Amino acid sequence: MLNLILFGPPGSGKGTQAEKLIEKYSILHISTGDLFRYEMGSNTLLGLKAKEYMSRGQLVPDEVTIGMLKNKVNANPDAKGIIFDGFPRTIAQAVALDDFLAEKDTQVTALIALDVPEDEIVFRLLKRGKTSGRTDDNDETIIRNRIDVYKNETSPVFDYYAAHKKSRLISGMGSIDIIFERLVSVIDEMN
Ligand code: ADP
Repeated sequence: MLNLILFGPPGSGKGTQAEKLIEKYSILHISTGDLFRYEMGSNTLLGLKAKEYMSRGQLVPDEVTIGMLKNKVNANPDAKGIIFDGFPRTIAQAVALDDFLAEKDTQVTALIALDVPEDEIVFRLLKRGKTSGRTDDNDETIIRNRIDVYKNETSPVFDYYAAHKKSRLISGMGSIDIIFERLVSVIDEMN
């Protein structure tokens, strides 16, 4: 299986690139942010729980997120591979993912991080907030909080996979197509 972690701060372009990657590699795309938004839209118990945290720019608790992720993977037993977008966001999530994939006799192929400067991230998220209807993109305080959470809790996940020689950093600046080419060349080298 080709199991990719698409990594990077909020607004770094993970979702956009994931859409192009699933076409090229015919693999499943799992975005934990999209799953939470779907649950919120359907007013499920899980959605209500997630909303408390997301609206403040905080992480949803690990046990909730990990459980949801496993359900989604288990619902797609025939997938040739998976792009994890927005997961793992903590070391505990990374450890849980590795254990879960090992039970299925597979593993993370690579973690690829999109590198985008902080000013550009804030600019992109505020712009997205004008049209996306996402309340977490409309408020600069919430955006700054998400960036802090990324720095403190999520960026260690890069080092965790780097210790296994699986992490790569590429520039997330430039056109969508150029960034996609950078991604494909790293994936084809590591697969
Ligand atoms: P972003 O554009 O910030 O990367 P996402 O759509 O991936 O946005 O996630 C939006 C929000 O959903 C996060 O700020 C967080 O509250 C919650 N969330 C998404 N993925 C996770 C995760 N793996 N662990 C905890 N919370 C998560």
